[in-house]
Amino acid sequence: MTGDGILVVGAGLAGLTTALALARCGHRVHLVERRPLDAAVADGRTTAIGAAGQALYAAIGAWEFLAPHAEPILDIRVRDGASRRYLAYDHRSAGDSPMGYIVENHLLHRTLLAQVLAQPLVTQHRGAGVVRLDGQGAVVAVGLDDGTTLRARLLVGADGRDSAVRRCAGIAATRWDYNQTAMVCTLAHARPHDNVAYEWFWPGGPLAVLPMTRRRSSVVWTEQRPTAQALAGLDDREFADALDTRFEGMLGELEITGRRWVFPLSLVQARRRRSARLVLVGDAAQALHPIAGQGFNLALRDVAELAEQLARARRLGLDPGDPELLRRYDAARSVDATALTVATHGLNRLFSNAAVPVRAARQTGLAIVQRSPGLKRMFMRRGMGVGGNLPALLAGRLP
Ligand SMILES: Cc1cc2nc3c(=O)[nH]c(=O)nc-3n(C[C@H](O)[C@H](O)[C@H](O)COP(=O)(O)OP(=O)(O)OC[C@H]3O[C@@H](n4cnc5c(N)ncnc54)[C@H](O)[C@@H]3O)c2cc1C
Repeated sequence: MTGDGILVVGAGLAGLTTALALARCGHRVHLVERRPLDAAVADGRTTAIGAAGQALYAAIGAWEFLAPHAEPILDIRVRDGASRRYLAYDHRSAGDSPMGYIVENHLLHRTLLAQVLAQPLVTQHRGAGVVRLDGQGAVVAVGLDDGTTLRARLLVGADGRDSAVRRCAGIAATRWDYNQTAMVCTLAHARPHDNVAYEWFWPGGPLAVLPMTRRRSSVVWTEQRPTAQALAGLDDREFADALDTRFEGMLGELEITGRRWVFPLSLVQARRRRSARLVLVGDAAQALHPIAGQGFNLALRDVAELAEQLARARRLGLDPGDPELLRRYDAARSVDATALTVATHGLNRLFSNAAVPVRAARQTGLAIVQRSPGLKRMFMRRGMGVGGNLPALLAGRLP
């Protein structure tokens, strides 16, 4: 590879979306992934894609293929443990469209990969991982573990929370271990979910129940690690019964379909998201607590901002690795990512606290928001990722 075009490292959800979006904007893209093309995607999670993320996929021509797998979220109900009070968000108070969609990660991955494979501007390099970065002059050179060297004008690190690109570029990252584990499974249930997403905050961590297609729901149940270890010892029937107790029978009879998954939770935040001819996107830049289901939505905002800056560079006849362009990308994304990191971190600490005064304060907080349509609308629009001065892709247009 000679050095023209943009090199994206990592073909997870962020890397595939980046490659597709940049190709749709007319850039030549080289996508490097250490897993072979035919490796099965083992990921039992679902992703809540906000309204702005849906607009991005529509703009790059992928939504029509994702839509059959996407279940709309019409309402969200938030409860503090066993308290009777809850905070309810109804999509109609912010407009006609759903607040977001739940898509199974393996289907999201498969659909995006099919789109990338059909895209003539994307070339894939599979089965070898990045181990080295050299020569950051007119091009950046990337060494793979099979001895290949690839060159590009701009390198996009989308290689996840343990990013080799970040490490090789000497970008430090802050880490925080939550000592919590998220247990993830899919449930079939007797009663309909009515497109409501639930989140209960318990002292051990949040329990989210997310509406899926075909009368199923995705469960993300977070607990302190020792409790999660004990729950891992239950068989599926016992685990479903434990969930049913928490749900108070709301979904009727439950059956776990497929296997149960566990994710030890930690925060990783890169100190900066750029270096010479290099930017980071997705979990390589920040991997959050899943409490607000926003991690991948941040990645989508990274992609939209990068596409915006590259379109600007093209209009001005600039090199895609132009330092000013990368500085603008970094500045635009850092504020949003830091604010969300602080918010999710704080939310987790606030709600994983059984102390009586803290519980009383947060129940008052929930009641205040429930009674304030303006505040509620503001939180909803934030969660949906809409409003404000959005990059074109998040508003459903190519930049
Ligand atoms: C339990 C849980 C629930 C979640 N729910 C939501 C949700 O509802 N909504 C939401 O927005 N977010 C959610 N998230 C966050 C979301 O899952 C992540 O932000 C997202 O999957 C990150 O994708 P990524 O592509 O950046 O990273 P990854 O999925 O880690 O992909 C990285 C890719 O890079 C490749 N790679 C790694 N190293 C190299 C190398 N050296 N060379 C080449 N390739 C390499 C890997 O093989 C992989 O394919 C959740 C997270 C968890 C843990």
